[in-house]
Amino acid sequence: MGRPGYVTVPILTVLAAIGYVYYTTVFLAIPAWLGLTTAAGGANAAAFTALAAACVATYAVAVSRDPGRVPASFVPDVEDAESPIHEIKRKGSDLRYCQKCSHYKPPRAHHCRVCKRCVLRMDHHCIWINNCVGHENYKIFLVFILYAVIACFYSMVLIIGGAMHLPKDEQPGSDSPRTSIVSSPGRMFQLPANQTPTEILV
Ligand SMILES: [Zn+2]
Ligand SMILES: [Zn+2]
Repeated sequence: MGRPGYVTVPILTVLAAIGYVYYTTVFLAIPAWLGLTTAAGGANAAAFTALAAACVATYAVAVSRDPGRVPASFVPDVEDAESPIHEIKRKGSDLRYCQKCSHYKPPRAHHCRVCKRCVLRMDHHCIWINNCVGHENYKIFLVFILYAVIACFYSMVLIIGGAMHLPKDEQPGSDSPRTSIVSSPGRMFQLPANQTPTEILV
């Protein structure tokens, strides 16, 4: 009984996406806008690196931490079945029993078909961490989501800033086709001075 493993396509996709965003932000956007050697550029690169490291660390914990097992010693509190907060009461007199695991389930525990076992306070099975989100890892999962959202907005600001400063930095001394198109799209359609449109057509 256990999970299929840590090396899955969704997990590799998440790691590749983090790496791609990190590379684009720190090695393309920040150098284009602020420069990596300036105080502002270095501070932003350090802050974004710390944020990316926090993302990877919390993601690794969310992937690897056990979401919560039903203790083998768990026995339903039948004495307390009168209590209105008890799920046993709400479901009538049926005790919640997992046929596959052959044990009773506490309230809010559910059997996961992927993990092939019951998980405490199971929220859902997330393919992106190849793990259930349950009692033991939902907090770190939420912290990872929070870090990822902050990093996305931070990266977006830096990439937009870098893109806005790109043409200005490329203009002096360089006359690459890309710069020409960016700076004056009309030049793409300019004719050579010594030719008329009919000469070109002929
Ligand atoms: Zn089960
Ligand atoms: Zn699961």
